[in-house]
Amino acid sequence: MDIIEKQNVIEIDDAFRENVKERFIRYAKIYSTSSSENADKGIIPSTPQQFDFARELKKELESLGFKNIQLTENCYLYANIPATLGFEKTKPFCLLAHMDTVEEVSGLNVNPQVFKNYDGKIIDLKGGIKLDPSKIPALCQAAEESDTVITTDGTTLLGGDDKAGITIIVSALEYLMSHKDIPHGKIEVIFSPDEETGHGMDKVPLNLLESKFAYTVDGGHLGELESECFNAFRSDITFKGIASHTNNARANGMVNAISMAGAFIQSLPRGESPETTDGRLGFYCPLKINGSMEEASVSLFLRDFDKDNMEKRKALVEQLAFAAASSFGGNAEVKHVQQYLNMKEGLDKVPYVKEVLINAYKVCGVEPVMTPIRGGTDGSRLTEMGIPTPNIFTGAHNYHSASEWVSLKQMVKATEIIIELSSMITKL
Ligand SMILES: [Zn+2]
Repeated sequence: MDIIEKQNVIEIDDAFRENVKERFIRYAKIYSTSSSENADKGIIPSTPQQFDFARELKKELESLGFKNIQLTENCYLYANIPATLGFEKTKPFCLLAHMDTVEEVSGLNVNPQVFKNYDGKIIDLKGGIKLDPSKIPALCQAAEESDTVITTDGTTLLGGDDKAGITIIVSALEYLMSHKDIPHGKIEVIFSPDEETGHGMDKVPLNLLESKFAYTVDGGHLGELESECFNAFRSDITFKGIASHTNNARANGMVNAISMAGAFIQSLPRGESPETTDGRLGFYCPLKINGSMEEASVSLFLRDFDKDNMEKRKALVEQLAFAAASSFGGNAEVKHVQQYLNMKEGLDKVPYVKEVLINAYKVCGVEPVMTPIRGGTDGSRLTEMGIPTPNIFTGAHNYHSASEWVSLKQMVKATEIIIELSSMITKL
């Protein structure tokens, strides 16, 4: 794609920044923690408080003039803004962010602390939590730029993941609706429940969606652009033995399934585990072992960015399982279950989706940092469903902890990028 020049002069003034900050703080204070236990049972949303947040958002979108606002029975909030005059034929696209926050740290009574013109002093929070810019490069950068930093009070998480994303989307579209001179096509929005439980796209109302591509706004530091994630499979291995009383086990030909399972796990390459790899290296990770002498089962995660390598991993698991079983005179069965796939493949088929985003980053003065995700995202699930979906940064940091913080400058920059992106898409 040829570089598309900057399309608009976006007025980023104090009022704009103040609006983004106030909106974020308002969202952060709303309790919306999800529950893996319920979500794993198929209950979506997994907690009623996610509906509370969705209803608040719905009211806000109504007052801002969004169209076709719908809150589904599974707590997905859909809305859109129509194309500007003459751009009805522009490709529509969708923006997504998730409403829930992670359950490991409390999300109740969040009390955001604002450090305006942050001066680089150590931030001292309750419970002895210290944010020290000499140990956190991104925080050091925030101090150098006299950024506004928003933290927790130390007793809860902040929920920047992903309330920063919702803030950015609502603020960008509010801006577009009040600046009709900026051309754009139809823009759809989905705010979803239960991303943190891994079930965020289980009930996504694709039937409401006209867009053929989308962007999640759920990343971290300035410039991050995620368009690649692991291919993920789970292998379930069952070892079959022959039980016998221990007193005459030799005569009876005891075959111990537990020993086979142990030998199998021992034979996995130790240098290819999550704790010994990072970056682009894949791994095997045993996560469950269960059994008796007669039958033992092992589940493990297989992860690899490369599709062919994943096939090799599956083959190796089979080979090692059969070898372990036969060395004890038993049998093994191996089943591989696909969990999610690298979104790169789906995105490579429609390169403009990522290219126009890279372009929007650049004209807004942000160098894209392509980070492969060592996990899956709502975007990877959507890409599998046929809607290629890269991920945009939000300015949130130290996710899933009481030391979580967000950078206002970075949130505002992401908002600017989305405004620019929306009008660049009219050139595709
Ligand atoms: Zn998130």
